[in-house]
Amino acid sequence: MISVKNISFRYREKLIIDDISINLSSDSIGILGPNGSGKTTLLKIISGLLKSNRGEIFIDNSNILNFSPQQLAKMFAIVSQEYEPTYGFSVEEIIEMGRYPYLSFWGFQSKNDRKIINQTIELLNLESIRKNRTDDLSSGERQKVRFARALVQEPKYLLLDEPTSNLDLSNKLLVTQILNTIKEFDTNIIITSHDIDFVRYNISECVMLSSGSIIYSGLSKNVINKKNIKKLFSLDSLPNWVI
Ligand code: ADP
Repeated sequence: MISVKNISFRYREKLIIDDISINLSSDSIGILGPNGSGKTTLLKIISGLLKSNRGEIFIDNSNILNFSPQQLAKMFAIVSQEYEPTYGFSVEEIIEMGRYPYLSFWGFQSKNDRKIINQTIELLNLESIRKNRTDDLSSGERQKVRFARALVQEPKYLLLDEPTSNLDLSNKLLVTQILNTIKEFDTNIIITSHDIDFVRYNISECVMLSSGSIIYSGLSKNVINKKNIKKLFSLDSLPNWVI
């Protein structure tokens, strides 16, 4: 379980996360909110990538500050939407990078490392492009490679930052399919999104974030309703096609 206790964060003088406390224990959690509400910042704080100005994060009752970078890399894998230059590395090489926290002192891959890499490549149907340069891939294929690199990390928590933004319907279905596969592993998923329907139908619990504060949290099927969405996005009314 991840316990977030009285977390506040500022970029320079601007308050981005405002005294948030919550326990995250479900196998899939969505952080929903408009652009700029602090979703990505919260995800980075939860995973130890950013240090909060106030408050504490506990992972299974241990303060996150007590974990080494290597321990954190085994605990958290992040699939972000930020552009990543890949310098001509192949699909296989990029995926192998996810095993880095597990490599021996000499940096050699073990039989187990190879097995996990091969299984993941098969699982995500990447065999036919295994040797291809990642620069030449479509955006959907690149997304799959990022998922694969995160999965070979065998994280306890898979953090997905806006996994469906910029994806067409077929790639959105692919992400849904991948998430359902991941649920079979012992991995919890935390995603940020402004895609209400995606969270409602695929993610069990949901936290609604507005201007750095949690305004609602609970089971997605209960929390995601017209009244709460209007408040979340500061809207007076909602058209019928929204939920
Ligand atoms: P969201 O993921 O909900 O869109 P973010 O967490 O990315 O929101 O950003 C929250 C706020 O923090 C925004 O106002 C954004 O401009 C600001 N912000 C994000 N990253 C930085 C940064 N590196 N430096 C300064 N301000 C930032």
